[in-house]
Amino acid sequence: MTPQPLSMLDTKKSRLNPRVAHIPPSGIRAFFDLVSAREDVISLGVGEPDFATPWHICEAGIHSLEVGQTCYTSNSGMLELREAAAAHIEKFHGGKFCPQSEMLVTVGGSEAIDLAMRAILQPHEEVLIPEPCFVAYKPLTVLAGGTPVPIPTFQDNGFLPSIEDLEKALTPATKAILLNYPNNPTGAVISKELLEAIAEFALRHDLIIISDEIYLLLSYEGRSPSFAEIPELHDHLIMIMGFSKAWAMTGWRLGIAAGPYDLIAGMTKIHQYSIMCAPTFSQVAALEALRHGDDEVRHMQKEYDARRRLICHHFNRMGLTTHVPKGAFYVFPNIQSTGLTSQAFAEQLLEKENVAVVPGPAFGDCGEGYVRCSYATSLEDIREALERIERFVKQI
Ligand code: PMP
Repeated sequence: MTPQPLSMLDTKKSRLNPRVAHIPPSGIRAFFDLVSAREDVISLGVGEPDFATPWHICEAGIHSLEVGQTCYTSNSGMLELREAAAAHIEKFHGGKFCPQSEMLVTVGGSEAIDLAMRAILQPHEEVLIPEPCFVAYKPLTVLAGGTPVPIPTFQDNGFLPSIEDLEKALTPATKAILLNYPNNPTGAVISKELLEAIAEFALRHDLIIISDEIYLLLSYEGRSPSFAEIPELHDHLIMIMGFSKAWAMTGWRLGIAAGPYDLIAGMTKIHQYSIMCAPTFSQVAALEALRHGDDEVRHMQKEYDARRRLICHHFNRMGLTTHVPKGAFYVFPNIQSTGLTSQAFAEQLLEKENVAVVPGPAFGDCGEGYVRCSYATSLEDIREALERIERFVKQI
């Protein structure tokens, strides 16, 4: 039987749970199916570092296999790793979590987000999600039985939500707010004032904040503030960090969730039955990353910073106004001056100049008029891509 495209699944006849059948396939994937059919494409599309994992981190993983560390660890993850992660979070995010009872080692930040949703949501409870946002947030909320409530944000406001926006979206069913600063796809970083105001809002309405801080070490204009810094929020916060971005470890699939005992215990229960534990050799490698990886993180952060400046400068010069990202490794140029939709811009750019960018609506409706470009791409490729984009924009 010829496989049907995912979007064509007939849910009436389908054996799938309608909740699964109705979830659209990732907008990024759909676009990259087009990209993979072509040769010599420069891709600014993928959200993954172009650096290899630092070698001493790989060696730690390899060594763990050589000495026979091939068994399960504790469901929560190796205690040594949780202790090192607690020290890291205290140093860089500014919050204290107990390694024994308030931390869980997960299969990437992705699993941590999924577990948080599944552990806290009852059917139809609502999660406020500022958009544009990481493509997985809405589907994971829906799969957990919840209802995502998008909070659109705009360039004029630095792609940050206001308390009024959050207040307006609040209903008796609101359970949580899912936030991500530094942000994918806009690069926005939250101010300390707004962070405190959102924390106060969450406490006032007894909401849980899920803060995805996976890009925190990739901040460029001073450290991006963390929700973990606010001691009063401790019982209302699930903080997520991961190794994929700052240590260039996407394929190792390792993340950490930190939060109050009851919520972490609930998440651990799901993880225990579905995953057992994160891969042991990846945990050993992550421990090495936390103990001896600071220099490489600093080096990669500096490289991204130089690329960020170059790419913003060129987009603005071309007339594609670009909010200067203060973190992560993405820019989100405004392409409205071209008169094209995001999808048409991305498709024509690919067709005419072989450069791949992601249409903004993949990250939420308010992403229309923008495209996402990742600068986790070599400087050489970025320079070439910018030349091609400029040529493309001039001929529109
Ligand atoms: N959160 C955000 C904001 C991301 O951009 C990503 C990856 N693109 C993830 C979480 C997932 O990362 P991982 O599962 O590799 O840790």
